[in-house]
Amino acid sequence: MSTKYETVIGLEVHVQLNTDSKIFCGCSTEFGKEPNENTCPVCLGLPGTLPVLNKKAVDYAIMAGLALNCDIAEYSKFDRKNYFYPDLPKAYQISQFDLPVAEDGKIEIETDEGIFNIGVTRVHLEEDAGKLIHEGSIDKSKGSLVDYNRTGVPLIEIVSEPDMRTPAQARAYLTELKMIMEYLEISDCNMEEGSLRCDANVSLRPVGQEEFGTKAELKNMNSFSAVEKGLEYEVKRQREILEEGGEVVQETRTWDESLNKTISMRGKEEAHDYRYFPEPDLVPLEIDEAWKEEMRKEIPELPREKYKRFVSELGLPEYDAGVLTGEKDMAVFFEEVLKDYTDPKNLSNWMMGEFLRLLNENNHSPFESGVTPLNLAKMLKLIDQDVISGKIAKEVFEKMYNSGNDPETIVESEGLKQISDEDELENIVDGIIEANPDAVEDVQSGKDRAIGFLVGQVMKETRGKANPGLVNQMLRDKLMD
Ligand SMILES: [Zn+2]
Repeated sequence: MSTKYETVIGLEVHVQLNTDSKIFCGCSTEFGKEPNENTCPVCLGLPGTLPVLNKKAVDYAIMAGLALNCDIAEYSKFDRKNYFYPDLPKAYQISQFDLPVAEDGKIEIETDEGIFNIGVTRVHLEEDAGKLIHEGSIDKSKGSLVDYNRTGVPLIEIVSEPDMRTPAQARAYLTELKMIMEYLEISDCNMEEGSLRCDANVSLRPVGQEEFGTKAELKNMNSFSAVEKGLEYEVKRQREILEEGGEVVQETRTWDESLNKTISMRGKEEAHDYRYFPEPDLVPLEIDEAWKEEMRKEIPELPREKYKRFVSELGLPEYDAGVLTGEKDMAVFFEEVLKDYTDPKNLSNWMMGEFLRLLNENNHSPFESGVTPLNLAKMLKLIDQDVISGKIAKEVFEKMYNSGNDPETIVESEGLKQISDEDELENIVDGIIEANPDAVEDVQSGKDRAIGFLVGQVMKETRGKANPGLVNQMLRDKLMD
């Protein structure tokens, strides 16, 4: 009988906080500046300099901790994590070791298999290291350049419990985490620019066994799909070793996107001893109830709550609620429109259809387009009141998007009003009847589909402006008794 294995995954996620200045000095954190432009004696680790803590970074860490349902520590401190590497000018990183700013939280995620609670072990503050730029590929490089612009940029590290059982759950957790950070507006979470980085611990154990199997640490997964693919590969690799009676080695592995596999970077014997000790240049961090309360007020409705409310209170399908809450601006825009419009599902169709199509085409967020929430509400009302047809509305909407004009002005100036006046349509309908004797005969001999053809001809003649329901009725009145 072959053994069944269970996968155990935990994630360590680094989130770059979008403060204007670095965590321990006044240097700018702006991305994309000339190499080493954003540096000073403090973040270059020159002798005699002292760090000064950026309050905003602590604010953001508290907000993150609260949003992840953690306990915020009344007393925490900073520690030195010692290691030597050229991207770290002080040869230590200021981090938090045994007393992190937040602990013991959890978030809810949803996958095709259901809803899961994933524990959050801790959230701690630390400074980022610099960046090495290798000449050519890393294994053949003749030299490396170092850029200290990133050195000292504030980070939070969010460590999960080993609660995930599938790569899909890991992806869902990371997606939820990213959305929460975006809703809090404490990070841009840009994975390509490295403002969101994810490492994974993954191991397998026989089903029913309490004790964890030997884990591998997986690094260098730079996108959501890379996280899922890297984990899937690693689970398969470990399962094959175990099924052949072998032993998984504890090591750090890197995901190679081009080879589509994980590669060993270093084994356990090379594992670091960071010789942590309390940072003597910074006073401990004391967060009182008032500070915590102030930060709690800054937290908006979070994506998961919003999603649930859209389903339960607005009656939206889960799919719609997921798309609309997936991006904060999309959800905010949606709710703004609802202040002047009462049909959430109708609005959702427009947001997910025409609006999203144009936003993607132009690479805009909703508030960067020419459409305002009020104007979208007005346009939807024009459709509901039969002033314009749904088809014409698409034309009007695109004009709103590009010009920023309101829909009434566009409908008026372009003559796009729907023709719902029988007298006005009479001549056109008669003309179409006369020009299509075959179709008329079909209708009269009971082929109902021919009516659709004739309605289409009238719509064509009026460039889509005729009220199709009215035309249909008029044709039936004229051709059938
Ligand atoms: Zn600096």
